[in-house]
Amino acid sequence: MTVIKKHTVKLKNYINGEWVEACSSDSLEVLNPATSEVIATVPLSSKEDVDQAVKAANIAFQTWKNTPVPKRARILYKYHYLLTENHEKLAQLVVKENGKAYKEAYGEVQRGIECVEFAAGAPTLMMGETLSNIAEDIDSEMYRYPLGVVGGITPFNFPMMVPLWMFPLAIACGNTFVLKPSERTPLLASELVELFTQAGAPKGVLNIVHGAHDVVNGLIEHEDVKAISFVGSQPVAKYVYERSAAQGKRVQALSGAKNHHVVMPDANLEKAVSHIISSAYGSAGQRCMACSAVVVVGDGEEFVAALREKADELLIGNGLDEEVLLTPVIRDSHREKVLQYIDIGVKEGATLVRDGRPEMEQHKEGSFLGPTIFDHVTPDMKIAKDEIFAPVLSLLRAKDLNEALSFIRKSRYGNGATIYTKDAAAIRQFREEADAGMLGINVGVPATMAFFPFSGWKDSFYGDLHVNGKDGVNFFTRKKMITSRFDY
Ligand code: NAD
Repeated sequence: MTVIKKHTVKLKNYINGEWVEACSSDSLEVLNPATSEVIATVPLSSKEDVDQAVKAANIAFQTWKNTPVPKRARILYKYHYLLTENHEKLAQLVVKENGKAYKEAYGEVQRGIECVEFAAGAPTLMMGETLSNIAEDIDSEMYRYPLGVVGGITPFNFPMMVPLWMFPLAIACGNTFVLKPSERTPLLASELVELFTQAGAPKGVLNIVHGAHDVVNGLIEHEDVKAISFVGSQPVAKYVYERSAAQGKRVQALSGAKNHHVVMPDANLEKAVSHIISSAYGSAGQRCMACSAVVVVGDGEEFVAALREKADELLIGNGLDEEVLLTPVIRDSHREKVLQYIDIGVKEGATLVRDGRPEMEQHKEGSFLGPTIFDHVTPDMKIAKDEIFAPVLSLLRAKDLNEALSFIRKSRYGNGATIYTKDAAAIRQFREEADAGMLGINVGVPATMAFFPFSGWKDSFYGDLHVNGKDGVNFFTRKKMITSRFDY
């Protein structure tokens, strides 16, 4: 049931420093996942809207690329201050449109602010390299230059952090930006651009075009868009990567995940259970670094019993309630797909040790689902292979670490993986052989900080340069080499 509020926010695009109506009159309702209340309408913009935004960004680029780097960095310092001042308000908005718990939302805002902190180091990050005497009387210098207009396409699950992976660094490097936020969580983008403008960003440097496929295709196909940064589900990531690369664009496309947590027989059981519970059920399992498969090595009966007990204790509800850990999934339509996966798991012969479906009855408003656990899942089952992106956890049994590692290798995804153990040899073997981009040693969510690259392997990532860190700087700049002879 959806409840329509009297004064629903009607979102607009932000182009060339102004809020403008989209050319297209199509729109979509934005819901609060915890109440099913309509909180806004978002325009489904057309290619015409994209053209206007890219044009504005291209004009702004001609000045912005020559704006001194320290001056660009100063805008980011001010932006950092404004984001920090508005930390709580931003976190509340994340809860409202995404549904995650306030504590998680507060952490997400912090992660976003850290990206701005990193990007404010632009004068150092943008430095080139030099070498005198590469030959007699000859020196070489390398300078970094921005690319031009960059397009950013973001998912629903981190409406604050993921846009901030992209535009602060891109803009600090001298590019201008067109952001297309998720149409399911589009509200936060308006706050982000308002504060960026207050921080002193000139018009046209950051633009927002709301919508869905048409906007994505418009950005991919526009000849003045030089690079695409994408984060979202696997089929779309692959599509965006292939289509953008075919247009000769630079592209990074971060994709889906199935993150395995290996519990060794010597693991600290209490801590491992606690980390797995918050990794698997925090944000309703809708994190690209969420634990979605546990590989229990050896006899796992004690572990499974402890996990089930903790799952039973989880408080389910609205993320604004401080005690709550398990919040709703993003939409009823997503929950429908998840329910189909639960049916598939049962049909495949996995043991449903905890069924989260009855809890739907206790939380009728909102897209809730209780914590669900399947045991005795095998790597060839569909529930083991696919990303379900929900509070549904699969437990696989392995006789030893080698077998556990073989399960990780079999997965098409390789975003993250974690091991719980005190055994140094096991840790080293896991570090060397686990087939994923971000590993945790006794860490439930091994997400990297802004000064390191963030991304996965295999079908979890398409491209070469990851987001954040030095990879991010390389992605948003192109290099020019100067070779000089001084014997004239
Ligand atoms: P999604 O793929 O549905 O949407 C992502 C973006 O792509 C949105 O802006 C959407 O409008 C657009 N889009 C969707 N379908 C499209 C289509 N057919 N053609 C063109 N554009 C399209 O993803 P989501 O459900 O919003 O986000 C969840 C997914 O994102 C999960 O798979 C999750 O693992 C992934 N994710 C990955 C990372 C990472 O770092 N690897 C981080 C966050 C989220």
